[in-house]
Amino acid sequence: MKCVQRRVLSLVLGVIILFIGSRCVAAEYSLLSKGKYFTVYARSGADLSGMLNRLNYQEFARFDALGGQGGDTFNPASILAHTLDGIYQEVSDILGIRLSSYHGKIVFVSNQAEVSTMFYAYFGQDFPERSFYIHEKNTIYISEKDLSLGMLGHEIAHAVISHYFVVPPTTKVQEVLAGYVEYNLRKASGTLPR
Ligand SMILES: [Zn+2]
Repeated sequence: MKCVQRRVLSLVLGVIILFIGSRCVAAEYSLLSKGKYFTVYARSGADLSGMLNRLNYQEFARFDALGGQGGDTFNPASILAHTLDGIYQEVSDILGIRLSSYHGKIVFVSNQAEVSTMFYAYFGQDFPERSFYIHEKNTIYISEKDLSLGMLGHEIAHAVISHYFVVPPTTKVQEVLAGYVEYNLRKASGTLPR
């Protein structure tokens, strides 16, 4: 009897620890802004201006569409949401895919170690990359520290591809398409190696 009680107690404790652990990962990242295509999460104190610069926001943010939003028109979080909308449209143009409706999530995770921690929490495997997309959660996780336009475009391409095809293409085909988007964005922004 005592043994059963102990097992139940350790099970309950295990569940509580797991729950607290998952809450800690999630609690670090709070809602930052919401655009047409993405709801955006980031840590408090995220370097928004650095992120905007690395995403070439002047190229993508549709400033003509920023009016009528009250005092936060030129708030960096709002500009980021508009920039992400512009990048989504560019990715859709490169792929030649127009989804009738789309809205996903982007979590700007602090760094690669945190990306790896997030990946491990979902898949139970180590992960050496700096970004990933989970279709079941319709969410992109990307390292704020390593952020680049090409890397983000690659993950947005995965989201668009995953929503477009009724029969999902093989992983290899999806990587070729996402790589094509990344190549085009890097070519346009002059970040390809010479
Ligand atoms: Zn990929």
